[in-house]
Amino acid sequence: MFLRGDKRNIVRLLFAPGPSFSRLVDASITCRSTVPVRRRLPGKLSLLSACRRSSVAALRCSAGPPLSGSQSTDSSRKASVGSNGSGEAPISVELPTNETSPRLLRIRHTCAHVMAMAVQKIFPEAKVTIGPWIDNGFYYDFDIGRTFSPEDLERIKKTMDEIIRADLPLKCVALSREEARARIEQLQEPYKLEILDSITEEPITIYSIGEEWWDLCAGPHVGRTSDINPDAVQLEGVAGAYWRGDESKPMLQRIYGTAWETPEQLQEYLRRREEAKRRDHRVIGERLGLFSIQQDLAGPGLVFWHPKGALIRNLMESFWKEAHLADGYQLLYTPHLSDRELFRISGHVDFYAESMFKPIECESREIIAKPMNCPHHALVYKSKLHSYRELPIRFAELGTVYRYERSGTLHGLMRVRGFTQDDAHIFCTFEQLQAEIKRVLDLTERVLSRFGFRDYQVHLSTRPSESIGSDEAWFRSEQALRSALEDKGWSFTIDEGEGAFYGAKIDLKVRDAIGRLWQCSTIQCDFNLPERFNLEYVASDGSRERPVMVHRAILGSLERFFGILIENCAGDFPLWLAPIQLRLLPVSEKFLPFCEQVVEKAQRRRLRADVDLSGNRLGKKVLNAEEEHIPYMAVVGKREVESNVVAVRSRHGGDLGTLAVDDLLARLECETSVQF
Ligand SMILES: [Zn+2]
Ligand SMILES: [Zn+2]
Repeated sequence: MFLRGDKRNIVRLLFAPGPSFSRLVDASITCRSTVPVRRRLPGKLSLLSACRRSSVAALRCSAGPPLSGSQSTDSSRKASVGSNGSGEAPISVELPTNETSPRLLRIRHTCAHVMAMAVQKIFPEAKVTIGPWIDNGFYYDFDIGRTFSPEDLERIKKTMDEIIRADLPLKCVALSREEARARIEQLQEPYKLEILDSITEEPITIYSIGEEWWDLCAGPHVGRTSDINPDAVQLEGVAGAYWRGDESKPMLQRIYGTAWETPEQLQEYLRRREEAKRRDHRVIGERLGLFSIQQDLAGPGLVFWHPKGALIRNLMESFWKEAHLADGYQLLYTPHLSDRELFRISGHVDFYAESMFKPIECESREIIAKPMNCPHHALVYKSKLHSYRELPIRFAELGTVYRYERSGTLHGLMRVRGFTQDDAHIFCTFEQLQAEIKRVLDLTERVLSRFGFRDYQVHLSTRPSESIGSDEAWFRSEQALRSALEDKGWSFTIDEGEGAFYGAKIDLKVRDAIGRLWQCSTIQCDFNLPERFNLEYVASDGSRERPVMVHRAILGSLERFFGILIENCAGDFPLWLAPIQLRLLPVSEKFLPFCEQVVEKAQRRRLRADVDLSGNRLGKKVLNAEEEHIPYMAVVGKREVESNVVAVRSRHGGDLGTLAVDDLLARLECETSVQF
């Protein structure tokens, strides 16, 4: 399996040694057989109501309704949307994407050219490089030998508006390689020459805007510049970027822009962007003491989990393991290091070398940090001969892997060099495949919903042009994936030809509280590794058969998923994950012993509680607990101690009234429990 649904790497692998970046960008227009359908899954019962279905839990929960409407369930989505008094609105406006709106993609692509044209009008010395569309807009890289200032951006945008209003046509001309070369040489654009050299197909297409400016490009664009609404375009900022992302190459100036079909869409995007900034997991992670990346001394892309973050990780891991054990998986631990030979057999050395760290020599062997867990699981499978009666065999591991990523591409927890995949491999027969995939989908739903993600976008990717495996194997596996999705009742998009070269796959993106989609889960059939590792089982007639191997991850990686989780809930972790679930706030020091008794009682119920030992006034204590996103506070004064009760507050719901200590703890215990 290749990097938790990271298309960039899959593309890199499939097209190794790799076409030019600009070609890759153009190649990213894929043929979608259907428009992606957003599937809102039927809401699951809240944990509290789920508890009520169990007789034991019903006793625990019989004390009353959930403590707080907005905080009663595991749903971080509920916890974050419309809460916290921050005035944020729930996501209601759907924004189009490059996939759902071909027109938007054309607008963005054209904007990149219009911006480059504007830059060269103002700065004739600027050399142009590449300018692709991206998720929310476009960028273009320039070699200009200076940094663009905010005033420069204003001038550039003004000139862009003039070009747009001039209503210039975009014209495509097909040229031979020689003609294109001559035209680029005339312009003295060295980067364009490099791009031309990396384009393997002919004819070479160029697009001109009006009569005065043109660029190498495969399209598509709008027909005329006036098809762009200048009020729906904004330049967002400047960043340094190495030519082709290579640190040894010249540093370029990249201007980012965002472009939409209408000004209203732009405004909605800007609102979401502000909201995303407020939720930045790097900022929240530091403020709440969850994790750090010790760039200088330990190196970039390596995550340190601090006590509160580590506690959450431990809860995530325990839940994950229990859910897998309850679903018939066997847990594995496999080494972080490996002889490079293992990855030569698996094919990764040939196809994936650039993402692997260089080997260390050890007693004449080459040892690498493993970039994948799959070969290791194949070895465990192979360690004994299996009968058909044992299949399916499901191996699961929270497997830590290391991959080289350029330092410029690293980003908080979202893109790192060392991470732990929630990995599993299923070895089964073709006949078992559909049921196994369905089972994985069920487990995926259970696991994701526990973290508050219930809104998914699902893609089925089919056989690419370059692939291994027989027609029959592909047909049967694609059928199995499709039928499992249909059986599950999920809508899905078919991405024709977008599967991995070794098998068809399902990818699942979760939608977060502010409408962003995050690729998390992936399920991939593989006919390659069983072949390469000569995996077998003894069939009912005594013959040796090849099992199908299914790679799957639900969260993707713990690091990245933690980042997504932090941003989804903006630090308001669902109760079961909150590092401190209940804080006791004594009105004066006299009541500390009572508070400590409550903490002990809570601990006996495996709840996490602490006491505010500061000499602060009550108002300040409440404020501090709210800033730490502690779900529940219990105020303790003379009256409370005398009656063995506490005055309960929630982090958002305010005053929740007085409750007997045991009732409060019973309810918290119920709200944090889970059914498998
Ligand atoms: Zn273009
Ligand atoms: Zn795998």
